[in-house]
Amino acid sequence: MPRPITAVIHQQALTQNLAVVRQSVPNSKVFAVVKANAYGHGIERVYSSFKSADGFALLDIEEGIRLRALGWTGPILLLEGIFSPQDLFDCAQYQLSFTIHNEQQIEWLQQHIYPAQFDIFLKMNSGMNRLGFKPQQYRKVWQHLNSLPNVGKITHMMHFSDADGERFGHVGIDYQIKEFEAAIQYLPGERSVSNSAAILRYQDQLQSDYVRAGIMLYGSSPDFPKHSIQDWGLVPTMSLRSELIAVQHLNPKESVGYGSSFVAERAMKIGIVACGYADGYQRISPTGTPVLVNGIRTRTIGRVSMDMLAVDLTPVEDAEVGSEVVLWGKSHTGTILSIDDVAAASGTVGYELMCGVTARVSFINQQ
Ligand SMILES: *Cc1c(COP(=O)(O)O)cnc(C)c1O
Repeated sequence: MPRPITAVIHQQALTQNLAVVRQSVPNSKVFAVVKANAYGHGIERVYSSFKSADGFALLDIEEGIRLRALGWTGPILLLEGIFSPQDLFDCAQYQLSFTIHNEQQIEWLQQHIYPAQFDIFLKMNSGMNRLGFKPQQYRKVWQHLNSLPNVGKITHMMHFSDADGERFGHVGIDYQIKEFEAAIQYLPGERSVSNSAAILRYQDQLQSDYVRAGIMLYGSSPDFPKHSIQDWGLVPTMSLRSELIAVQHLNPKESVGYGSSFVAERAMKIGIVACGYADGYQRISPTGTPVLVNGIRTRTIGRVSMDMLAVDLTPVEDAEVGSEVVLWGKSHTGTILSIDDVAAASGTVGYELMCGVTARVSFINQQ
């Protein structure tokens, strides 16, 4: 028997979350963001649920080629653009669109001597200061690109730093959208601005012809704890499940695990779970991180070790070796433990947890 830990990918939930994107922005085309192997879910596992999207966005050409191998013939966007002049050959062969965010990429494009037409997404640095051209340069760069024979459609693109909340006491998107609008005024072309947080929070204010939906597709709320997945109508798409492989009875003052960091105040029953940081569960998760045993919410106790962690079985009377443990996601009983709850207790975000499940965990698809 394999170790009992599995990551279950819920197809119905992927479909439902994509429907939430559609309802939120009915007039936009939707790029499903599947970078980082579909946020850790596996591109091949999400493909059939997402193939009604208008396009896919990702970073690695290799992931784009995997989508083509699955039969996808629609748009694919490389969010960080090309990393070398050779990449343009792949972009031509596999019909990949890409962002242009620096001068070097423009040089490569100019020097590419083989005939091809590339659709590009011209990235503006509207204030986040990671990638793109400053608003003052943008118009000139656009005009230059527009004059190149191998450039087809140019879409105006930017990315928000604070769509999930406020920035210095103001609405988080304001400082960037002002710059963006001013810089592209009177330029033809469509726009791509919204990520999940902007799709959910600013659907009425923003014109985004192509939205780029990531985290919301995977059942995590972009502005947790302000809003939970229930608030947004989203459902978990990944359940990290395991089992109890031992039960212990602690006397008062007995401890559990490395460093004896948890000491029982009274007699208590605890369970040992086949899940540790080598499976992608964060070692930093403290005592009290929520977990489900037989669908009942309880807490982790003590230090997370490489292959195991301990849970408090006080509220779970019938727990025994073999009982189901849900680290995040959905229990067989139907109870949900949002990945956002677990992430918050561990000082991180759902993105990091879902991307971090390691290769030794077996993945399975479920309706
Ligand atoms: C990852 C990414 C997105 C998706 O962001 P979410 O917050 O996951 O919706 C959108 N645009 C760009 C440029 C990205 O890198």
